[in-house]
Amino acid sequence: MSARLLDGVATARAIRDELRDEVARLLAAGRRPGLGVLLAGDDPASAVYVRNKTRACDDLGLRHETLTLPNSATTDQVLDGVRTLNERPDVHGILVQLPLPPQIDAARVLGLVDPLKDVDGFHAENVGLLVQKRPRFVACTPAGVMELLKRNGVALAGRRAVVVGRSDIVGKPMALLLLHADATVTVCHSRTADLAAVCREGDVLIAAIGRPGFIGRDHVKPGAVVVDVGINRIEDPALARRLLGPGRLLAFESKGHALVGDVCYPEVREVAGALTPVPGGVGPLTIALLLRNTVRAAGA
Ligand code: NDP
Repeated sequence: MSARLLDGVATARAIRDELRDEVARLLAAGRRPGLGVLLAGDDPASAVYVRNKTRACDDLGLRHETLTLPNSATTDQVLDGVRTLNERPDVHGILVQLPLPPQIDAARVLGLVDPLKDVDGFHAENVGLLVQKRPRFVACTPAGVMELLKRNGVALAGRRAVVVGRSDIVGKPMALLLLHADATVTVCHSRTADLAAVCREGDVLIAAIGRPGFIGRDHVKPGAVVVDVGINRIEDPALARRLLGPGRLLAFESKGHALVGDVCYPEVREVAGALTPVPGGVGPLTIALLLRNTVRAAGA
């Protein structure tokens, strides 16, 4: 058996295409949706993520601008950047790219973002609304996973869903969204006993761990839907041989690195009923949902 692939690129394209009409309506009303990005530090992965997001804005006709601050920036400087974006009427959505440099108080920064511009859904007010099932802005990655499941016909009501990871950004909001879709939800973390056995209870298994290829055959109930949120850069050839198929292995050998998820793809595709690839799975949906939140913020 080989798992059905859940195509994040195609699903993200469908969401972006649906947004085009809404953007056209806003443009006709003289209101061009705008995203303000705050990028502090010189983390190369963050720079790539921001570039991908701003390119997606260009594709959809959204305005965007990025405030960049050095690695040595202080919390006060970053807070000033947030204040500037909060006050700008042409900025409808604000994205603070994480991680921030370690000396910066990230909780204070995220807490200062205007909740009505908080398109990443990290502000306590938006998290609280999600908890109460009155969502306004929901964190883009878990919201994207829900769209992927819904648009690919994955039923959730009454089914067992297991989420591995309990971060504020992915694991916790993911669990809430699955709960609100009437799944029976288990959340696992680094202290979960007999993790593989708990994972095998999942009709739907979501991996948001940050460890390359961690979820193997033994973690997966035969026929389960497996969503791989992880994005990990690997450079170790032995790991690459375990995690990559022949085509990607060739590319790894010439480049010396590759992006992989938290799921051991070659093993799990033999057991799962459906599976997201990395790249081309959850990543494009995160961007599509950021665009959708920004367009909604502009229309509100
Ligand atoms: P965090 O590091 O914040 O959280 C990781 C979670 O995994 C923690 O809850 C941790 O448990 C748990 N964990 C770590 N090791 C184990 C283990 N051995 N067994 C069980 N649980 C474990 O990461 P994020 O949630 O921010 O991100 C997770 C992954 O998703 C990363 O690879 C990240 O790059 C990727 N990501 C992808 C996005 C996308 O667009 N596709 C967007 C955001 C993130 P504990 O709490 O006990 O420490």
